[in-house]
Amino acid sequence: MQQPQPGYPPQQQPGYPPQPGYPPQPGYPQQGAFPAQQPSHPQYGYQQPPQKRLDPDQMPSPIQVMADDQQNRGGVFVTNEKGLVPPLVTTDFIVDDKGNASPRYIRSSMYSVPVTADLLKQTAMPFCLVISPMAETVGTEQEPPLIDFAALTGSPTLGPVRCARCKAYMCPNMKFVDAGRHFKCAFCKAQTEVPMEYTQYINSMQQYGRVPAEMALGAYEIVATKEYCRNNTLPNPPALVFVIDVSYNSVKNGLLETLCDNIMTIIQSMPTDEAGRSYTRVGFITYSSTVHFYNIKGTLAQPQMLSVGDVGDMFVPLLEGFLERPEDSGPVLQQLLEMLPVLFRDNRDTETILLPAVQAGLEALKAADTSGQLLVFNTTLPTYPAPGKLINREDRKLLGTDKEKQILAPQSTDYNELGQACSAAGVCVQLFTCNNAYVDAATIGQLPRLTGGQTHKYTYFTADVDGPRLIHDVIRVVSRPTAHDAVMRVRCSTGVRATEFYGHFFMSNTTDIELAAIDADKAVGIEIKHDDKLTAEDGVYIQAALLYTHRSGQRRLRVLNLALSVAQQLADTYRSADTDTIVNFLTKQAIWALRETPPRQIREGLTSRCARCLAAYRRHCASPSAPGQLVLPGSMKLLPLYTNCVIHGDALHGGSDITCDERACAMYRALTADVATSCALTYPRLLPLHRLREGDTPAMLRASKDKMEDQGIYLLENGVHMLLWVGSAASPELTQALFGQPSPQAIDTSVRELPVLDNELSEAARELVDQARRQRRVYMRLTVMTQNSPAELQLRRSLVEDATIGPSYVDFLLDVHKAIQKLM
Ligand SMILES: [Zn+2]
Repeated sequence: MQQPQPGYPPQQQPGYPPQPGYPPQPGYPQQGAFPAQQPSHPQYGYQQPPQKRLDPDQMPSPIQVMADDQQNRGGVFVTNEKGLVPPLVTTDFIVDDKGNASPRYIRSSMYSVPVTADLLKQTAMPFCLVISPMAETVGTEQEPPLIDFAALTGSPTLGPVRCARCKAYMCPNMKFVDAGRHFKCAFCKAQTEVPMEYTQYINSMQQYGRVPAEMALGAYEIVATKEYCRNNTLPNPPALVFVIDVSYNSVKNGLLETLCDNIMTIIQSMPTDEAGRSYTRVGFITYSSTVHFYNIKGTLAQPQMLSVGDVGDMFVPLLEGFLERPEDSGPVLQQLLEMLPVLFRDNRDTETILLPAVQAGLEALKAADTSGQLLVFNTTLPTYPAPGKLINREDRKLLGTDKEKQILAPQSTDYNELGQACSAAGVCVQLFTCNNAYVDAATIGQLPRLTGGQTHKYTYFTADVDGPRLIHDVIRVVSRPTAHDAVMRVRCSTGVRATEFYGHFFMSNTTDIELAAIDADKAVGIEIKHDDKLTAEDGVYIQAALLYTHRSGQRRLRVLNLALSVAQQLADTYRSADTDTIVNFLTKQAIWALRETPPRQIREGLTSRCARCLAAYRRHCASPSAPGQLVLPGSMKLLPLYTNCVIHGDALHGGSDITCDERACAMYRALTADVATSCALTYPRLLPLHRLREGDTPAMLRASKDKMEDQGIYLLENGVHMLLWVGSAASPELTQALFGQPSPQAIDTSVRELPVLDNELSEAARELVDQARRQRRVYMRLTVMTQNSPAELQLRRSLVEDATIGPSYVDFLLDVHKAIQKLM
């Protein structure tokens, strides 16, 4: 998709009709967005242009774009130059770090940055980064090496080498001057004296012809010294506290028993040190209308329960024995897990608390002087009279209207205040909601939002159907790479700086992103703005530094570097654009803006931005063409499609066809999504299962009903839902092989997994389902549906090229085209 200059060929769409032929839209707003007459559009009655039906196959296709990129960019991506555009996130590739951090850690919306703010403004593109500092490596890729300067130099106090002025860390872009006695900072241009011990270390490395990692790689870690720790004291290993709802609801839906049956498996899935010893101490809190702590010290005959009488005044009734390494607690821990379901079997509490239970976890970790994670399991809206009590304000009719703020903003500030207190103590809250009614995720989800956690929701939870899913997700949460008690700072070279930040974290100033935790599955979106003219010879340098506590208790710095080019010509910026990153960021930004701006205005803003971006390309970069022709930049030809998908996706649109809790969770998901995740959320993967052969995944199809045959069986997944659709004319051979049934009508659609049958197709299909869950890092629930059943509506909502919720892709593209022409 990089196309050589000059003569950058416009992507002309053959068969695209010149205007007129497009029906006039009464009340059409200025900048080409929605017809103004739509109120809250449960079923969007978009008018099809009756005259000319365009061939959707002529529209730019994501399938083709992904396939071309795989073809042209698969293999090894060597990061040895500034401004290199990485392969798409959907492409299989291996990164060879030669001075710039892997795109798995950091992606930019553009790799060639306009020289001035004015030039950038003309493109209507955001200059932004999506950073996933703890992302996992793939295949043979190297983990960032860990450098211990104190050990390397024999000087115990030598910490990271940094610029004296802007505090940027030593990196491949620093230049040694003055015979190696000073280095010149790539970010602020100040010169810093090189510490003597460091000079000796470089010299000794060079004698052996080696370059220190921090001068050669884009990503590396440095062992931090005491001055990088709270109170100048090396930290304890982060701990893990299970905070478990033991109310009547939790007993009845099987949550309590499922957890107790599986907590040992969860604990055993956590990484250990080389000797196989646990890094992590665990603790237990239970709650319904009051809070209980447990002493699980290994020397006890049995675990001890201590209740807190007044939940309005939380204190920790025990200091010793609350947090223990699993192996030290041994049989006492086992006894506790056997005891809990029995102890609360007859609990009649249906009204529960939540906030005091989380507070209890926070106070316990603070008392133990450690950071960590609270795994909070809850089942209901906390309505018990106690701090954090909430009322049921569910009113899904408001979703999608100007009044939706009323139900999407927190109903009280209590949870935000506690979230901030958790963040300040380096305590991350992971919320696992196993509910069967409204829980007000918009309010209670503030705890994970401010602490780098997530709200994981299992609606209509029953243990046998959803238990395995829950346990898989909990295992992922405790075992994935995670930075605890972290703070991230993004430094930029002179002329640009980080200004806006989106994700799950807390900020108490304008530069430091405070992350009680950040894990491999989360990203932060950051907007970069010009404050001066750039120079082409210098480029734009970015350094993201994440200071964190490793699982082992070691304090570390992870440094990620990225060098971008500077563009004098807009064509260079367009050629280097990464549409997936742009869409990820604009979605985050739009969700955040919903707090203050009516949703319709935000959707119109996104459409208008898309049109302005493409109009600027046409005006400044494309060769002259007929006015009726649609001209799209090669790297951004999917922007209209993805804009339409985002505008009508659950996070931004979410009308009355989803619940308020689902809407809140969709917003959290998009706020934290890395680019690979947002890609799937934006445009789902549709696979024809009937064409499945062992070891060979069939090619993805465009997300449209037109691509689905009545004879087929299809799997659609987007990282949240996994829908299996059985066509009404699917053959007996097919339904027999996959479901053990002679016809589509005979299939039991209530199953949550494909039955295990001994044939090639069944095996390949089950493997595909597993693979998708691994790839998306979440255990998606499988929903089976047959053609023309009511359940089919869910699938139709996910077929994003069709006109189900909003206009079809074809119609939206026509709208955008019309808006572009107005701008020319
Ligand atoms: Zn500097």
